Amino acid sequence: MARLLVVEDDAAISEPLVRALAREGHEVDHAATGADALERLADGRVDVLVLDLGLPDIDGVEVCRRAREDRPRLRVLMLTARSSELDEVLGLDAGADDYLTKPFSLSVLSARVRALLRRGGDDGGERQVAGVRVDPAARRAWRDGRELELSPKEFDLLALLVGRAGEAVPRDEIMTTVWDENWWGSTKTLDTHVGWLRRKLGDPPVLTTVRGVGFRFEDG
Ligand code: CA
Repeated sequence: MARLLVVEDDAAISEPLVRALAREGHEVDHAATGADALERLADGRVDVLVLDLGLPDIDGVEVCRRAREDRPRLRVLMLTARSSELDEVLGLDAGADDYLTKPFSLSVLSARVRALLRRGGDDGGERQVAGVRVDPAARRAWRDGRELELSPKEFDLLALLVGRAGEAVPRDEIMTTVWDENWWGSTKTLDTHVGWLRRKLGDPPVLTTVRGVGFRFEDG
């Protein structure tokens, strides 16, 4: 179970947020101030920090900076009420992994948190499922010992699905993970890439379309 800390002073935002993330099976803690957040972070058990930029005491950027001093690999999703580019750059400079501008939908936020957990939770080691081997560090993949020539997106897509073999991975999650984190709109490009990937993987088929959901890499 992943441990999340939601840092947000506005209860109208934090309460539904904490509930939604807890429903996803995460252990969720909440802090309303930057000082409280830093105190709760001190035990080093938080996996993902969901951090509001505008806090009543210490600015979110500063909280992020201080949290990262002790734990450079802590994953941070910054929430901002202002959408100007400067704020985004500031958030990234402070070491945020991702950011969302309010208002955002809870499902988008959940998908971003899942993406962050995968990014950091995975050790980047090799995986082999159903005759398909993926080496994320080398960015190489094989099917039954034959190396696959994949484009960068095809590789990312395959690595994501193999990493979650047996699970139906939702389309919006694939789009936000493999394509643009600020992606909105058509997923036609995803279907195109899945088609190419299927052709390169050959038979027997291992990528299943889960209607109305997304795609599943078959693990057996
Ligand atoms: Ca705030």
